Amino acid sequence: MRKILLTLLALLALPAFAYGKLRVVSTLPDFAWLAEQVGGDFVQVKSLARGSQDPHFVDPKPSYLVDLHRADILLLDGMQLEVGWLPPLLQQCGNGRIQPSAPGYVDLSQFIKPIEVPVGGVDRSMGDMHPMGNPHYHLDPYNMALIAEGIGGAFGKLDATHAAQYAANAEKTAEAMRALGAEVTAMLAPLKGEPVVTYHSTLDYFFLRFGFDIVGYIEPKAGIKPSPSSLMELEQRMKEKKAKLIISEAYQDLKTARRVADDTGAKLAVIPSYTGGAKGAETYPDLIRYIARSILEASSG
Ligand SMILES: [Zn+2]
Repeated sequence: MRKILLTLLALLALPAFAYGKLRVVSTLPDFAWLAEQVGGDFVQVKSLARGSQDPHFVDPKPSYLVDLHRADILLLDGMQLEVGWLPPLLQQCGNGRIQPSAPGYVDLSQFIKPIEVPVGGVDRSMGDMHPMGNPHYHLDPYNMALIAEGIGGAFGKLDATHAAQYAANAEKTAEAMRALGAEVTAMLAPLKGEPVVTYHSTLDYFFLRFGFDIVGYIEPKAGIKPSPSSLMELEQRMKEKKAKLIISEAYQDLKTARRVADDTGAKLAVIPSYTGGAKGAETYPDLIRYIARSILEASSG
């Protein structure tokens, strides 16, 4: 396998900007979408993970190495979201431009304010999936506004000729993201303060932004499978808090989510949590509207 990959990479050894475009690789499709808005015609963008995948667990494909080998810039979520699959790919891709100390390595978490950062270090017994805080910040459109501006700056540094266009596109995109935030705030206003449960804490930035009350998770801790006793505790808490809404990412164990919904009389909404994760969620704004609509429908049904 390794030999084949090395041969592939040798064949693909191309100089930077071979096509006159900045080659952007993003770990997640949401940031790829954002990079396209900011980069316009001056960039060629590719996402490694698909929107239907759990980004904590992505099976690396040989094509990822090819993409990384060619990239001028790598956009990643950071906060150890990709720790299970990205580091070995980076080591093997033979591209110094996107290594952690290089200007082409852009950890997007630097542009946002993280939530759920463990206080006083990480206790391994708490699970170690979010040791630096919650990495699922992409579901808050206001975070995406900040990230658009960050991406504009990063593109401008690497491709100074088009820096002014990147900055202008970034500002326009940031504005669109804030408008999307305002639109969804209005959409979800009737549910302000609504108690909700999710499978994993993927939606926490979304819930905090739009005023929901997070009562609990089907997983007892990030990355830990539920047990009969943890589910009993959750169901008890849901009854106390009168939680009638469970929202689960489509790639989770929906059988368990359905059982909790049945036990508690709650409605279950199954949602795509990344751009492209479902039909009708092909762009980031469509994804956010899709999630908002699904929650509204579940709450009224
Ligand atoms: Zn997570």
